[in-house]
Amino acid sequence: MTPHPPPHIANVAPDHDIVVVGFGPVGSTLAALLARRGLRVLVVDRETEIFPLPRAAHFDHEVMRVLQELGCVDEVGPATILNPGMEFVTAAGEVLLAVHSGDRTPSGWPASILFHQPDLELVLRDVAERSGAEIRLGVGVSNVTDRGDHVLISFADATETTASYVVACDGARSTVRKQLDISMLDLGFEEPWLVTDLVLADDADRPSAFTLQVCDPLRPTTLVPMPPPRFRFEFMLLPADDPASISSPESVASLLTPWMNAGAATVERAAVYSFHGLIATEWRRGRVLLAGDAAHQTPPFLGQGMCSGIRDAQNLAWKLARVLHGTSPDALLDTYQLEREPQVRNIIQLAVDLGRVICTTDPEAAAQRDAGMLAARAAGGGTMGQALMPSLPEGPLVTLGAGGQAHQPVIDGVRLDDLAGDRFVVALRSAAQRSNPGVAFWSARDALILDADTTPEVAKLLDALAADAVVVRPDRYVLCAGAEIGEPDATLRSMLTC
Ligand SMILES: Cc1cc2nc3c(=O)[nH]c(=O)nc-3n(C[C@H](O)[C@H](O)[C@H](O)COP(=O)(O)OP(=O)(O)OC[C@H]3O[C@@H](n4cnc5c(N)ncnc54)[C@H](O)[C@@H]3O)c2cc1C
Repeated sequence: MTPHPPPHIANVAPDHDIVVVGFGPVGSTLAALLARRGLRVLVVDRETEIFPLPRAAHFDHEVMRVLQELGCVDEVGPATILNPGMEFVTAAGEVLLAVHSGDRTPSGWPASILFHQPDLELVLRDVAERSGAEIRLGVGVSNVTDRGDHVLISFADATETTASYVVACDGARSTVRKQLDISMLDLGFEEPWLVTDLVLADDADRPSAFTLQVCDPLRPTTLVPMPPPRFRFEFMLLPADDPASISSPESVASLLTPWMNAGAATVERAAVYSFHGLIATEWRRGRVLLAGDAAHQTPPFLGQGMCSGIRDAQNLAWKLARVLHGTSPDALLDTYQLEREPQVRNIIQLAVDLGRVICTTDPEAAAQRDAGMLAARAAGGGTMGQALMPSLPEGPLVTLGAGGQAHQPVIDGVRLDDLAGDRFVVALRSAAQRSNPGVAFWSARDALILDADTTPEVAKLLDALAADAVVVRPDRYVLCAGAEIGEPDATLRSMLTC
């Protein structure tokens, strides 16, 4: 930390490679991923403690894959339970739509996991620290100034530091985003809900094993079974509700009455949250990038807000590492928003669409919705496996038809990602393909090259894409899949210089 920086700091090496603003779940994941890649990371948070109450309750198998990379799956385990799935039901309890968590995911991890956010954040902070990230707590960032070749970061206590890049993971009210005057595009959903977290006296009293979306026009309600002893109810506010008094003990007890004996639980928190769909118009301004809630916010009906932020971190980490290690140009960072924004936008849109189904309060419209969905179920529809997240769009680092999460085979008892580390993976159907000129490009970039003749488990990765040759990126997304590894085009060569 430099209390009085020299007036002309140009040509002086920045104090840090990266300053991560915000040590929430996204900032801690990013700090850990970057520090593990050997970068000099400072992560700062204006609070000294983790926010003690959960907001997120669910994460998916892709997040599990990131936790695998961070080596903390076993530590996170006690804070989690498996989610059997989510059901949309009528006020009378008839199932309108069932989304059941299948046990097959590309990553090999369970599709859907319920967790206690403060416990996960504790582990992530610990991983960031032991990975070598420097941590500064209890002082907020007040300003970031892009000076062209580095960023000057100013703190609320008048100290300053410098970094090559800044990533703002400072949450929905992001100071950095506001300071840069980056606007949020409203995806057209705004509903206040009362979030009520309970600690059950006896876990046998849990009102549901499934996440339930109760599409009751008189009171749309969500039930979320968090890890024992906790259970969450979310109640949509109606026009007649007073947002100031709905969280009172009497009001909460009355809302809980149809579901359970309110005396069988302690209310840990009852607070009104506004559920909305927002997305930042710029995710990168020069040397400053936005990630997590600072860049996008989604209604929680799919449980994807934090998951999306962790995917931001996963997308950024390998790219920032390549740029700072000099193996890619700064332009690689322009692919961050190109890739992530369409994926996040699709997820938010899906959550908004589901939200509109759940939040219907017009009894006639609700009756029509129920009749249509019940008829679809009677005709054999209305049940789906865990929805896979949308792929990355085609672009400089994703060829047409690629962009999904790669299958993760287990090779001689070791998961593929653990073998690959931060490298690209080239998977080939036969050993003969190794002499293909396209493969040489990846060999020169230290890719892990595997062929199904020598390593039969790799066939699963190829089969999942109906391909004989696949390149997987360090963030486990598929770069290209086809009959052969083609010669890289000029754009790809320019992005991955060595
Ligand atoms: C009711 C509810 C239910 C949800 N359910 C789910 C779910 O099931 N699954 C899911 O994936 N997501 C869910 N979410 C969303 C999820 O909680 C958020 O997406 C996630 O917490 C965002 O993480 P973040 O690290 O981006 O931001 P935050 O968690 O907000 O962390 C930001 C950090 O930045 C710090 N900070 C802020 N300003 C500054 C500054 N100027 N200087 C330094 N530090 C600063 C803050 O102190 C904080 O620690 C839910 C949200 C709500 C409200």
